[in-house]
Amino acid sequence: KLPVVAIVGRPNVGKSTLVNRIIGRREAVVEDVPGVTRDRVSYPASWIGRRFMVTDTGGWEPDAKGLQQSISAQAEFAMRTADLIVLVVDATVGATSTDEAVARTLRRAKTPVLLAANKVDSERAEADAAVLWSLGLGEPHMISASHGRGTADLLDTILEAL
Ligand code: GDP
Ligand code: MG
Repeated sequence: KLPVVAIVGRPNVGKSTLVNRIIGRREAVVEDVPGVTRDRVSYPASWIGRRFMVTDTGGWEPDAKGLQQSISAQAEFAMRTADLIVLVVDATVGATSTDEAVARTLRRAKTPVLLAANKVDSERAEADAAVLWSLGLGEPHMISASHGRGTADLLDTILEAL
């Protein structure tokens, strides 16, 4: 059975874009409007000759109460089923209360968790990512899922932790 990497986070942070980057195809649905990702779709992926599954999560409710509920459901599903969890945060927004809630849940996980600070499209944007240390999940790995910046290093780190 292949190891499973679950990508979790708020709507619109770039989870599906990162999944597409990892699988090298455009199969995960990227949308400017939150909520279009089908729940928990898994794709086969490989990096430097190692194969694994990557799971895109989503299935969001439009209202804030539903959002909180789905983020905890998403995190708890990932904690039960994945071998590694990547929490994606939008570095241009910073840590929202929803990000903090899911980080709090994930800090209890026995599963290893990596923090990806997405939308760091340029060197200038790197300063934004530093505040994400406050989530208590260690180093924010700076990436731009849409440009591919930093994603090779993130994949190296994923495989080291897997
Ligand atoms: P999801 O809801 O977390 O799955 O997010 P999506 O992958 O659907 O992306 C949401 C929006 O963020 C889309 O408009 C993407 O094009 C955009 N996006 C994703 N990654 C990046 C990035 O690295 N940089 C920038 N600037 N935009 C991004
Ligand atoms: Mg999505």
